[in-house]
Amino acid sequence: MSHTPASAIQIDTAGLASPAQWLLSPNQDERPPPTEVDMIVIHNISLPPNQYGGQGIMQLFTNQLDPQEHPYYAEIAHLKVSSHFLIRRTGALLQFVSCNQRAWHAGLSQWQGRERCNDFSVGIELEGSDIEAFEDAQYVTLQALIHALQQRYPIQHIVGHSDIAPGRKTDPGPFFDWQRISRSTD
Ligand SMILES: [Zn+2]
Repeated sequence: MSHTPASAIQIDTAGLASPAQWLLSPNQDERPPPTEVDMIVIHNISLPPNQYGGQGIMQLFTNQLDPQEHPYYAEIAHLKVSSHFLIRRTGALLQFVSCNQRAWHAGLSQWQGRERCNDFSVGIELEGSDIEAFEDAQYVTLQALIHALQQRYPIQHIVGHSDIAPGRKTDPGPFFDWQRISRSTD
């Protein structure tokens, strides 16, 4: 895994980013046709909550979280969830699902009258929380990843999970600095 921010990222026609560490999540399926990928959803996640650097997120997205390891893990270990991408505190980029496939990150959601945002979005998890700032290296990678997605897909909306699931989700949270990414026209 690279520990330097990926400042130049490309996404190939198979929907795979490079450079990125690839770790396959089984929690995915086909996007319903005809579907254009036109949304990016930004999240935060940390496992255990508010702790960084461990293997919990990767274990969750690969259905390998040990419910005995932490009380919170016992609550969530049964979930079948994923995201296309994770950006760790170091700025390192991991990919779990091809962008051409549907990852299971948004849950019950809607944006501007369209429901099931997983159908048409790419999910990006930032390793972080609602209680402290993200790292500069994460923004560097995020900017490069957004740029790469815009090159490959007709992205129209860049939103937070809390925007598409208000009242249910709070991420990416109050410390995410929207000024540091080029938010789209919506
Ligand atoms: Zn989220």
